[in-house]
Amino acid sequence: MEKEKTLAELEIGGRAYVRRLTAEEPALRRRLFDMGITPGTAITVKKRAPMGDPLELDVRGYALSLRLEDAKKIELMTEKEAEEALREKKDAVERFMREGKSLLEASVDTDIEDSNAHARAAKLTELMLNSADGCAVCGKKGRGCDCKKDEFPDKPVKLALAGNPNCGKTTLFNAMTGAREYVGNFPGVTVEKKEGRIKTSKTGGGLCTMGHEMTLVDLPGIYSLSPYTMEEIVARQFIVDEKPDAIINIIDGTNLERNLYLTVQLLELERPMIIALNMMDEVEKNGDSIDVKRLSFELGIPVIPISARTGQGVSELVTQAQRLITAVHTQFHEGFRLEPDHLYDDYTHSIHHRLDDVIEDFAAKADLPTHWAAMKLLEGDAPVEKRLGLTDEALEKVHAIVKEYGDAAPNPYTDNIALLADSRYRYIDGLTASCCTRKREAGKPGFSDRIDRVLTNKFLAIPIFLGIMALIFVLTFGTVGKWMQQGMEWLIFDTAVPAIDSALEYAGAPAWFVSLVCDGVMSGVGGVLSFLPQIAVLFLCLSLLEDSGYMSRIAFMMDKPMRRFGLSGKSFIPLLMGFGCSVPAIMGTRTMENMKDKRNTILLIPFMSCSAKLPVYGLIASAFFGSYAALVIIGLYIFGILLGIVSGLLFNKTLFKGNDAAFMIELPPYRLPKFKDTMLHVWERVKHFILKAGTLIFAMSVVIWFLMRFSFRFQLLTEEQVGESIIGVIGGFIAPIFKPLGFGTWMAAVALLTGVVAKESVVSTLSILYGFAMGSGKEAFTAMTGGGFTPRAALSFLVFVLLYVPCVGATATLSKEIGSKRWTAFSIAYQLVIAYLAALAVYLVTGIFM
Ligand code: GDP
Ligand code: MG
Repeated sequence: MEKEKTLAELEIGGRAYVRRLTAEEPALRRRLFDMGITPGTAITVKKRAPMGDPLELDVRGYALSLRLEDAKKIELMTEKEAEEALREKKDAVERFMREGKSLLEASVDTDIEDSNAHARAAKLTELMLNSADGCAVCGKKGRGCDCKKDEFPDKPVKLALAGNPNCGKTTLFNAMTGAREYVGNFPGVTVEKKEGRIKTSKTGGGLCTMGHEMTLVDLPGIYSLSPYTMEEIVARQFIVDEKPDAIINIIDGTNLERNLYLTVQLLELERPMIIALNMMDEVEKNGDSIDVKRLSFELGIPVIPISARTGQGVSELVTQAQRLITAVHTQFHEGFRLEPDHLYDDYTHSIHHRLDDVIEDFAAKADLPTHWAAMKLLEGDAPVEKRLGLTDEALEKVHAIVKEYGDAAPNPYTDNIALLADSRYRYIDGLTASCCTRKREAGKPGFSDRIDRVLTNKFLAIPIFLGIMALIFVLTFGTVGKWMQQGMEWLIFDTAVPAIDSALEYAGAPAWFVSLVCDGVMSGVGGVLSFLPQIAVLFLCLSLLEDSGYMSRIAFMMDKPMRRFGLSGKSFIPLLMGFGCSVPAIMGTRTMENMKDKRNTILLIPFMSCSAKLPVYGLIASAFFGSYAALVIIGLYIFGILLGIVSGLLFNKTLFKGNDAAFMIELPPYRLPKFKDTMLHVWERVKHFILKAGTLIFAMSVVIWFLMRFSFRFQLLTEEQVGESIIGVIGGFIAPIFKPLGFGTWMAAVALLTGVVAKESVVSTLSILYGFAMGSGKEAFTAMTGGGFTPRAALSFLVFVLLYVPCVGATATLSKEIGSKRWTAFSIAYQLVIAYLAALAVYLVTGIFM
C-alpha cells in the first residue's frame, strides 16, 4: 500500500487539506485539534525555521509553528478528495447562511423562543452600537452618567475576562481597571490570576458601571477548555466554581476562527457571557469587515466591537455587561444558556441528551453545568469524570454511550475528541463565512510575513538575533548602563548620604545612630538601589521583545538547537526571562505541557544570572578589575550559560530520557509595543525591586549592623572588635569551607548567607562588614584586599555567587512549580556542588596566571 502524503512532505508555499491525524498521544491530538487542525482544514506551509525545523504554517489565517516530526502525523487529502471536501463544505456554509438569514428575518415577529432570545442579543448589540459614545441607558455622553441601578441587588459584581493568549486581555484589563486602580497580583495556588476594580465614572474619566462596584478577573490565556494545561484547568475551575456574574470573552477580530473555538466551549459553561470583539482597528486597517449584528444573532449573546489598545468601545462593553447581569437577575434570559443551533450535529445532540439524562443529578450535586459535563465526558475528560462522582451503574451507562458515539466514527483515527472539535470548527466555518469578509486571501503573505522575510530569514535570522542580544547586553552592562549607574551613585552617595549625615549630626543624633543610618542602611539599601536604572533597562528590553512579537520568533528559531538539550523553543523564553528575575521565569514555564520539559527548564533557570546578581558583579568587578569590569561581567553571564548548556546535556542524557513533547506555538503578528503598556511592565518589575530594597534588604542591613556591633554577651563593640561580634563568630565558623576557593574570610561567608535571602544583600553585607561606601570601587578594593581578598579570590567569589542557590523567593517558586520536594532538594544540592566546583576550578586555574 502506498504511504499517504503528510504535511511534512508538502513543499514550502504549498497548500493542502488535512485528511486525518495519525498522532496517537491524546494530549498531542487534542492540542492539534484545538489549534484548528481538523479534517478538511486548509494548511499552507510558509517556511522552515533557519535551522530547518520547525515549520511555520498558515492555519485558518494565523501563523502556527509545528515540528516536522509532528507534521508527519498529519495526513493530507489527495486533490480529488480535497475537491470533494471543499464542495461539501461550501454547501454546508451556504445552508448555514441561508437558514441563518431566514431565521434572523423571522425572529423579528415570531414567537419562536430560541430565535427570540437570539434576536434579543442582536438587538442589544445594535442598541450598544448606536449609542456608541454615550451611556447605553441614559445616553449621556462623557462622565455625566448617573444611571439607576435597575432592580439589580446592590452587591459587587464580578466579571471574568477569558480569551486566547495574545488577544489583548491584559490591554483590556488595564483599560477597564485603569493602571492606577490596579489592586494586586495574587499568585494563586496554581496559576496567576489578576484582579482589579473597574474604574467608574464617579472617579472621573472612568467607565459607566451603572453605579455598581465591579471587579474584573484576568484569567490566563487559553485556546480551549481541555484538561491538559494548568492554564486551562485554572480558567475553567474559576468559571465553574467561583461563578462570576458574567464572562467577558475577548476575541481577536483578526483571528476569528480560532478564537471562536474557545467561545463555543465557554458558552457551555452556562454563565452569562458577552463578547468583546477586539482589534477592530486592525480589522479595519486590513480592509476586512465583520457583521457584528449577525455574529451576535448566531451566537445568541451580545457582541461589542472594541479596540482595547485605543480604548474605543470599552465603555460600552462595561455598560453592556452590567445590563446583561441585570437582565439575568430580573429573569430575562438575555442570550445565555443557549447553544448555537448548528454547533453540534444531530447525532451529537442526541447522544449528549442521553448523557445529560444519566448525569443530571450527579452534575447538580457536584455543582457542574450538566451540558458541559456531558460534553467533557464525551471528550474523555478525566478530572470531570472524577468530580461527578458517578455510581458504578451510572459510570457503566456513561461509558457505553461514550463508546457508542466513538464507534460511529468512520475510521480508527477519528475519535470522540476529533468528532467534537470537527463539529465545532464546522459551525465556526459557517459562522465566519456568514459574517466576516477578509481582504487578504488565505495563505497569502501579510504585513508580518514581510517582516519575517528578514527576521526569520534563513541566513539573516541568526546574525540578527545575536545582534539584538548583544545590543541588550551593551545597553545594560556597557557604557549606557554604567553611565546611568554612576548617575545614581552620585545621587545617593555624593548627595543624599552626606546630607542625611549632616542633618542627623545637626539634630544631635547619637553617633551609633548616625552609623546605623549611614553605614548600615544607606550603604546597604542605597548601594543596591544604584543599580536600579540598569535593571530597568534590562526589563525594558525583555518587555519590548515580548510585546513586539519577536519573543515567539526566538522560540521558533531556537527550537531545533534547544532540542539537543532535550528542551524546546518554548524553554528559551523562560531562560531568557531568567536574566531578569528567576521568579517570573520559573512561572513562565507553565505554558509547557510536558512535565519533563518543564522540570528540565526550571533546573536550568538558576544558571541564567538574574538581575539581582548584577549589583554584586558590578561592585566587585569594578573594584578589582577596573576597566575590564564590563568584560568580567559579560564573561560571568556567558560562563553561566555555558554551564547551563553542559548541565542541560547532562540532564538530557541521564534524568530526562524519553519522548519529546509537541512544540506548537502561535507566531502572533508583529505589533508596535504600546508605550504605556511597556512602561507598566517595567514599572511593575522596578517597583518590586524597590520594595525589596526598602523592606528585605533594609531589614537585613539593620540586622547585620546590629549583629556586627554586638557580641554574644550583648556588649557594644568598637569597630576594631568586629571579629568578636555575633556575626563574626558565626561567619568564622563557616569560613573554612570556602578557604580552598580563596575567600575563606568570615565576611565573605556571612555575605553569602545573607545572599540567600536576596542576592543584592551579598554586596550590601560586604560593604557593611568591610566598612566601605558602595559608591566607590577604590574604597571597596582597599577594604577588601585589606580583608584578605585577592583578585583571584574575587573572581572565584563571583563565580560562586553566580552559581550557588537562588534566593529564597526563587527557591520557593521553584519548589512549587517543579512539583516535588525531591526535585527541589536536587536543584539546591546541584547548584551548591556546581558552584563550589566551578569556583574552585576558577581559583586554581587563575592561579597559573595571576
Ligand atoms: P494578552 O496576551 O491576551 O494579555 O494580550 P495583550 O494585552 O498582551 O496584547 C497582545 C498584543 O496585542 C499587544 O501587543 C497589544 O498592544 C496588542 N493589542 C491589544 N489590543 C489591541 C487592539 O485593540 N488593537 C491593536 N492594534 N492591538 C492591540
Ligand atoms: Mg497578558
